[in-house]
Amino acid sequence: MHACGHDMHVTWLIGAAALFARARNAWRGTFMPVFQPAEETAEGAQAMIDDGLFQRFPKPTFVLGQHVMVGPSGVLSLRPGVVTSAGDSRQIRMFGRGAHGSMPQASIDPVVMAAATVLRLQTIVSREVAPTDAVVVTIGALQTGAKENVIPDQAIIKLNVRTFDEGVRDRVLAAITRIVHAEAAASGAPRPPEITPLDHYPLVKNDPESAQRVGDAFRRYFPAGRVLAGQPTTASEDFGSFGAEWGVPSVFWFVGGTDPAAYAAAKAAGGVADRPTNHSPHFAPVVRPTREAGVEALVVAAQAWLS
Ligand SMILES: [Zn+2]
Ligand SMILES: [Zn+2]
Repeated sequence: MHACGHDMHVTWLIGAAALFARARNAWRGTFMPVFQPAEETAEGAQAMIDDGLFQRFPKPTFVLGQHVMVGPSGVLSLRPGVVTSAGDSRQIRMFGRGAHGSMPQASIDPVVMAAATVLRLQTIVSREVAPTDAVVVTIGALQTGAKENVIPDQAIIKLNVRTFDEGVRDRVLAAITRIVHAEAAASGAPRPPEITPLDHYPLVKNDPESAQRVGDAFRRYFPAGRVLAGQPTTASEDFGSFGAEWGVPSVFWFVGGTDPAAYAAAKAAGGVADRPTNHSPHFAPVVRPTREAGVEALVVAAQAWLS
């Protein structure tokens, strides 16, 4: 399972749509609920766009979205500017020459080639990126060989990059290409490596003016302490595609889903980082008040334009 809380998102939007439908006389304008699928593979927003979303439905003047996150249940976090990082995944196939393990001189060992590559890739963040630029380079898969005494003929590395700036993103992706090719050459690889893009999430950036409008509406409606100024997160989202492709401002925020008592206890013990996050098999947002808070947040935010 992806375990990201997307069932909560569907529930929130159904709830908000039902409330807007029931109180049709209390607001003006057009409310368009967009049930975006496949955020987990960065394909859903683009698939809706490719399917004619922009031709089949009226162009909105603004786009709103929200996601459940670790944090006290029902507490909203919102910020102007960058919200979630750009995400890029690559598959790298490195070629060697297989041989029997007893005769390494006959091989070009892709296990050593890949291992050296993995270590060298770790220096991108520590040596090539400014300390003030936040970047993640995670190698989530390294696959090669099947037998203890056989040198295989290729290795596969799968990695994921998160960045908050287009220029930094270009620089990190270029460094990956450079290092992978150089390590293959250093090993005497018989063929250059193949680098295949797997997915791409754009930066999600909140329009400052619209974020202020949503924040003001939240603070008028929710009790003090329920609306926090958020930080940029290294999570990634394809929600940003809608605003970018429609050419309209968008705002995206987070709704806490962690049991408030458990969160407070973890915070007191300095163990917030140990709380199950999105994608953990133990991530399970509490229903109350997460469910109500998400419905209310959508309605309150949309009403900042529709009332
Ligand atoms: Zn997720
Ligand atoms: Zn998600």
